[in-house]
Amino acid sequence: MNAYVSVVDLFSIGLGPSSSHTVGPMRAGRDFADRLARSGRLGRVARVGCALYGSLGATGLGHGTADAVVAGLRGLDPETCPPDQVRRAWLDWPDGAALALGGAHPVAFARSDIAFEPATRLPGHPNALTLWARDGAGRELAKDTYYSIGGGFIRRQGEQPPPSRPDLPFDYRDGRSLLALCDEAGLTIAELALRNELSLRPANDLIARLDAIWEAMVACVEAGLAAEGPLPGRLGVKRRANAICVQLQAAEEQGRRGPLDEWLGAYALAVNEQNAAGERVVTAPTNGSAGVLPAVALYWSRFLASAGSDPDLEPAKPAADQAIRRGGVRRLLLTATALGSLFKANASISGAEGGCQAEVGSACAMAAGGLAAVLGGSNRQVENAAEIALEHHLGLTCDPIAGLVQIPCIERNAVAASTAVTAARLALRGDGSHRVSLDAGVETMRQTGLDMSTKYKETGLGGLAVNVVEC
Ligand code: SF4
Repeated sequence: MNAYVSVVDLFSIGLGPSSSHTVGPMRAGRDFADRLARSGRLGRVARVGCALYGSLGATGLGHGTADAVVAGLRGLDPETCPPDQVRRAWLDWPDGAALALGGAHPVAFARSDIAFEPATRLPGHPNALTLWARDGAGRELAKDTYYSIGGGFIRRQGEQPPPSRPDLPFDYRDGRSLLALCDEAGLTIAELALRNELSLRPANDLIARLDAIWEAMVACVEAGLAAEGPLPGRLGVKRRANAICVQLQAAEEQGRRGPLDEWLGAYALAVNEQNAAGERVVTAPTNGSAGVLPAVALYWSRFLASAGSDPDLEPAKPAADQAIRRGGVRRLLLTATALGSLFKANASISGAEGGCQAEVGSACAMAAGGLAAVLGGSNRQVENAAEIALEHHLGLTCDPIAGLVQIPCIERNAVAASTAVTAARLALRGDGSHRVSLDAGVETMRQTGLDMSTKYKETGLGGLAVNVVEC
């Protein structure tokens, strides 16, 4: 099976706070409504509803899952719809008001039409939801179960998983075969990913999509750095990225530049605060871990692309040409895609399936490998950087307090961004040879995820979620 997942699928533009609990369920709701329309049954629907199972039922309230389902049923697309049409869509729903199913057909809807059933776990995946539609006589018109399998990807029960892509020029299943293919063809990991992408879409389309992903990431960082106030939810968590940004800018204006790594943390906090607020975010590879890669990429683009390898010590060189930065970011994204595909294919990128190691661990490894690549690392140094980053997240649990993607998630992204930079620097100081392969790290993550108690897989039933008093 080819592990490769396209860059446009791995980095999908959507909404916070969760790719698996918000974006995936929204896509499921939209797909369900689309199917009703395509089969000619939409106009006969008198009632529609949904049951949220397992992890979706357990933390769906804090993750805005029911809001997302309502928005999806109304035909809204997470990539393009205004975030305020999704936020609180279910929470503030006036019972009995008409919901425009598929954006067209009015159906009376009540909040109780969405049921939370955390104790029911379906065998297909811990994140499951069943959508149903009935006619005026109560007869069932449609009933579909969807699995939200991480990173905003969904799978409908009964549908075959998408076929692996034998049509791609480079077919690899693990890190070892990825490196072997690169050796054979004389390509970097980014170049191999590029060849695969160019077999899926024309070059101008690919470039436009890569740039759109990057622009959405940068817009998210900038909006997060500018925003102030408390985040939604009962924890009353205050945003911090803006205050840090103001302090760092003031110090720079006074010629007192601190360690540049402080910006790295501010960028990551900015993204994850935006995510927690339900704003526009790019999965990288998920929403909960969306801050790591943009922070590292922006840190490279702003400070490393135009300076020596250690900008804190070396004088800045003339600013790198914009085109060089753009090219570097594209390379970073493609390298991260080739690596992220391995985690998705051979372990998991879903916190509900593998704990936080699957989300933030994967994100950190993708960012570390991508950074090593743009800093001139060889393929083996890139693989080494990703392995170092992943290794030190193994066993990391998911225990969000109050089911909100805030604590520990926001800070965790800042710490992981810092780890990614450290991992890349360590790898670049070596020659690429190392004892633990990336494949061994990925397999360990898979096995650890299987052994991990359900309490630590996005259920809010263990760890910090039960040991921190909420008020
Ligand atoms: S703890 Fe990690 S996996 Fe869990 S919601 Fe937060 S970021 Fe996602």
